[in-house]
Amino acid sequence: MYHRAQARTLLYMDERQRALDAAHRGATAFLESLEDRPVWPRADLAEMLDVFGGELPDEGMDAAAVVADLAERAEPGLVAIPGGRFFGFVIGGTLPAALATDWLVSAWDQNSGSSTLTPTTVALERIAGAWVCDLLGLPAAASVGFVTGAQVSNFTCLAVAQHAVMRRAGWDLTTQGLRGAPPLRFVVGEHRHGSIDRAARFIGIGTDELVIVPTDGEGRMIPDALAATLDGTPSGPTIVCLQAGEVHTGAFDPFTELTPIARAHGAWIHVDGAFGLWAGASQRLRHLLDGAADADSWTTDAHKTLNVPYDCGMAIVRDPADSIAMFRTGGDYLMYTGLDPWDVTPELSRRGRGVPAWAALRSLGRGGVAALVERMHDNALRLEAGLRTIPGIEVINEVPYTQVMFRLGDDDATRALGASILRDGTAALTGAEWDGRAALRCSMSSWATTEADVDATLGAIARLVSPGS
Ligand SMILES: *Cc1c(COP(=O)(O)O)cnc(C)c1O
Repeated sequence: MYHRAQARTLLYMDERQRALDAAHRGATAFLESLEDRPVWPRADLAEMLDVFGGELPDEGMDAAAVVADLAERAEPGLVAIPGGRFFGFVIGGTLPAALATDWLVSAWDQNSGSSTLTPTTVALERIAGAWVCDLLGLPAAASVGFVTGAQVSNFTCLAVAQHAVMRRAGWDLTTQGLRGAPPLRFVVGEHRHGSIDRAARFIGIGTDELVIVPTDGEGRMIPDALAATLDGTPSGPTIVCLQAGEVHTGAFDPFTELTPIARAHGAWIHVDGAFGLWAGASQRLRHLLDGAADADSWTTDAHKTLNVPYDCGMAIVRDPADSIAMFRTGGDYLMYTGLDPWDVTPELSRRGRGVPAWAALRSLGRGGVAALVERMHDNALRLEAGLRTIPGIEVINEVPYTQVMFRLGDDDATRALGASILRDGTAALTGAEWDGRAALRCSMSSWATTEADVDATLGAIARLVSPGS
């Protein structure tokens, strides 16, 4: 029996080794193709469903063959996000140390909710969280929960916030629930990210209940308008959502003016800084965040500016007791030892997704993170300057950070340019609406983007704008 089991193990290990080799080869081939492949996918969803579709066969298949075949057939439907000329949405690339560590995390298969079960990954996440708070100028004692992204971070932080402001008003959400609770005043800016509305929905707040404060031309909340809003609406449990890094303009709310107003009204202050909080790592850009550290909770992403692989967001809460009050559960089989990951986020079982963030930070060092963020800003300024020299192109934001937004003439011309850029394949960027008009926006979010990438992108845009010249 022993020998048969051992033989089976050896066979299995051999299959595993060959499968890992196939993954390594497939990954390397993809990464090496980034320089030359068209950035946008060549196949759409229907084609990819065709490629992989059909019924699940009765017979299994060798693991290495599955992986090799998958890697090859996946090709046309892949988008070159890890390359240097993907500028769509706000999506980072992947630093080498973070990518390789992510493979290790999968191999380790550590279910990282509990420090008793998985001390290595919990320690690495705790250290990564502390390093990030230090780099971004946030309180050292804050709780840091690693979640899938800024959407879930906003949800996590706002669930904690709602629980805390209700408790201070004498209402315990964990036992009494939301029905019958005192009304919550939930204050947001006109140009908040859409994930704030979804997060509100998840915690029982409908869109009609949002108290919306006007913003200026760059999407920044107007302090006098916040004061007037808070003075003019019934007081009670209050949450004010501010923003570091508007997705179109990259603008930062004026925190030094806003936070004292919100404080004076007893509000919980939440800052969505999915990519903007990383300005705090740079001496040159840190001023954009002045006053933001006075908030109660912060959302950020590691998979955007820090360039770790998907998925990795962070939910940061000033007082860990507020996180625990919301998320810690009973249950006999759960082991409690101080602050565990499952005490501060909605998840129980999960991968050690903060470990690649640790590796990214360790590989860059403090100076490297600053240089990364500053290079993104430099690339945005280089793109902006180049766009201004292309006849017909109008840059429509101030470019304080990593986002550049522009138009070409009317809405039709702008949208047509956007489509032709994707078809051309040199670079990829995505469309938007700003002030009720079509716009195109570029997000500098990748460590891989070089000046040459920016120049190649400008060259392609100039060529597409005036084909004959
Ligand atoms: C990207 C983004 C989000 C959503 O983040 P995910 O990581 O996609 O969940 C939320 N807020 C802002 C400001 C963002 O840029």
